[in-house]
Amino acid sequence: MSLGAIEAGGTKFVCAVGTPAGDILHELRIPTTMPHETMSQVTEFMRIRGGQLAAIGIGSFGPIQLNPDSPKYGYITNTPKNGWSDFDLIGPLRSAFKVPIVVDTDVNAAALAEAQWGRAQGLKTFLYVTVGTGIGGGALAEGMILHGLIHPEMGHIRVPHDEVRDPFPGVCPYHGDCLEGLASGRALEARWGAPSGTLPPDHPAWVLEAEYLALGCANWICTLSPQRIILGGGVMQQHHLFPLIRHRLSMLLNAYIDVPQLTHDIANYVVPSSLGGRGGILGALALAGTML
Ligand code: ZN
Repeated sequence: MSLGAIEAGGTKFVCAVGTPAGDILHELRIPTTMPHETMSQVTEFMRIRGGQLAAIGIGSFGPIQLNPDSPKYGYITNTPKNGWSDFDLIGPLRSAFKVPIVVDTDVNAAALAEAQWGRAQGLKTFLYVTVGTGIGGGALAEGMILHGLIHPEMGHIRVPHDEVRDPFPGVCPYHGDCLEGLASGRALEARWGAPSGTLPPDHPAWVLEAEYLALGCANWICTLSPQRIILGGGVMQQHHLFPLIRHRLSMLLNAYIDVPQLTHDIANYVVPSSLGGRGGILGALALAGTML
């Protein structure tokens, strides 16, 4: 039995055919162009490589309509990405394949992959947060993917912004200096005039970055009580950020939440993903597996 998996990103799509155990059998990467063009390439790949598909899972950029009762279930809602606003992501697949199709946010999918194969095995309530071009978070709460009103938008929380220390106004088109506006890869590049990957570990960018991400973690911890926070995405490839974030987070929490995971073992609490950049496509595969 094979499953179809699609990691739908703003710059690239990754399509795969795999097994419920997490083995990827075939894979294709294509640039994200106009929606109909991109989706016809996806459908073609699934048709040729899919065999007897049992289900298809999609982890997508958003915002996306996830209410299964909505006639617009699986639609990208409002995105600045040209042509993709109000686009029916699963429609082209539904016409081509008579199998269950499930869609969720890329970060909820990645969280599911962490639960099955990564750093969240055995945990029921945890977060996966990506810090890349943007910032987004997915959550499992008591073993279920958290959707609620639409889905969490953890990157857009408001954090204290000391404009004397950091006069940068932020890059979020909606909020300016929300967390994503201040601490995403796009923000780093705009503030410092260079891509984040080129800034050396002793650059002042990183202490400031750790401050914002620690504030984000503190707020998520107080709100959702996760048993672990997994940080992934391009910016978090700078592994020297982790000790900085943990140190600052400890100070911010000030032992108020008196559990050993936070007070004595924070190195195993705020952690990188162990899936090596494969969390997105594995998450889509795991989503498909939920339909079996
Ligand atoms: Zn924002």
